[in-house]
Amino acid sequence: MSEIKIAIFPGSFDPITIGHEDIINRGTELFDKVIVAIGVNSSKKYMHSLDERLEMLRKTFKDNNKVEVDTYKGLTVEYCKDKKANFLLRGLRTTGDFEFEQSIATMNAKLVPEVETIFLMSNPQHSAVSSTIVRDIIRNNGNASQFLPQNIR
Ligand code: ADP
Repeated sequence: MSEIKIAIFPGSFDPITIGHEDIINRGTELFDKVIVAIGVNSSKKYMHSLDERLEMLRKTFKDNNKVEVDTYKGLTVEYCKDKKANFLLRGLRTTGDFEFEQSIATMNAKLVPEVETIFLMSNPQHSAVSSTIVRDIIRNNGNASQFLPQNIR
């Protein structure tokens, strides 16, 4: 594994929200590099195409040179190994997130013990923000811009 501290922040980012952006920016204070990686799941339906989601990520982090943007297929822990990343970064909003994340982190630790999952608590102002609700607002012609990163509003 690599000497520099690389963290993967995986997700679908359909679309990226201010909640994700905050966790990723805070992650770059802890790690040398944060790779924001869109997991490609061909059986899932998305509102935004992969190219659109990549473009939104690139624009959001254009001024943060510690952030890299990428896509991957397959198991997240295998992708971590490919990228020589020892850390998986996740955000926690609620106890619901905690319960979901706990089982994934436990299973991932069994699969690849050298990858440590690190959790950052959501900023309380962002704890109700989710991509799902942002999509609902967009679908119903509402204005979701306050939930989106400044660079893509
Ligand atoms: P996906 O993009 O696959 O739908 P999620 O958005 O559910 O994935 O989650 C990606 C990561 O971002 C998770 O760790 C999740 O807890 C975190 N996250 C999502 N929204 C927020 C938020 N508003 N504040 C903090 N963390 C968040």
